[in-house]
Amino acid sequence: MIDTHCHLYYKDFKDDIEEVIDRALNAGIEKMIIPSVDSETIEQSLKISEKFNSIYIAIGFHPSDIKNLNISEINILEQYINYDKVVAIGEIGLDYYWDSSYSEKQKEFFKIQLDTAVKHDLPVIIHTRKSISDAFRILSGKEYKDLKAQFHCFSGDTNDLQTILSNKNFFISFCGNLTYKNFRQATLIPGIPVNKLLTETDSPFLPPAPFFRKRNEPSYLTYTAKRLSEILSLEYSEFEKTTTQNAEALFYKLNKK
Ligand SMILES: [Zn+2]
Repeated sequence: MIDTHCHLYYKDFKDDIEEVIDRALNAGIEKMIIPSVDSETIEQSLKISEKFNSIYIAIGFHPSDIKNLNISEINILEQYINYDKVVAIGEIGLDYYWDSSYSEKQKEFFKIQLDTAVKHDLPVIIHTRKSISDAFRILSGKEYKDLKAQFHCFSGDTNDLQTILSNKNFFISFCGNLTYKNFRQATLIPGIPVNKLLTETDSPFLPPAPFFRKRNEPSYLTYTAKRLSEILSLEYSEFEKTTTQNAEALFYKLNKK
């Protein structure tokens, strides 16, 4: 299986990243994608990917990390985009939950990064919070008609879900909060075809229920995956196989040696 979203550069992992990656490999998580959020984490992610075979990265600017940035910072993407281990642009998007006072700037960063993805034929990893309709509006531009995207840690409603499912280039993923009793999107999941799903942890955030309030890590992906396969009434092995194929199809550079 593939953890398509783990922030392994945060200080939560600074003392034991080797053990964390070993535990993931032993749990059957053979590849992990680290999404970056700004220039500094792009460089940190690259260093980790150079050290570990199983680590791939996405490069991008997270909407919550751009408030004080100049748009020219984005030029760093061009510098690294052709690296073998760079498999996507991400995580990018819009977040009006924490701060919507600079939503126009968020849109500007989002669009330029989408353009970069189109230019280099790379998929994007999209973060939205209280902003998914604005994200859809931007993505409906004809310049993005062939763009491939993962909607990470989905938190929208039925209509949002339908928009994603009806686009052949869009995939969706859920985090460990899916295992919590009060998970709001639980009723939406049963109708999702497994060929639209990806797996992710969003480590160190949103651990599955047994590790509530603790640090999340890629090896815990199995808890979320088991719960998801139960909700979907699928054999675990089939769930594992299909979601891995989905990730390898979307993030096609994962298959390069
Ligand atoms: Zn993230």
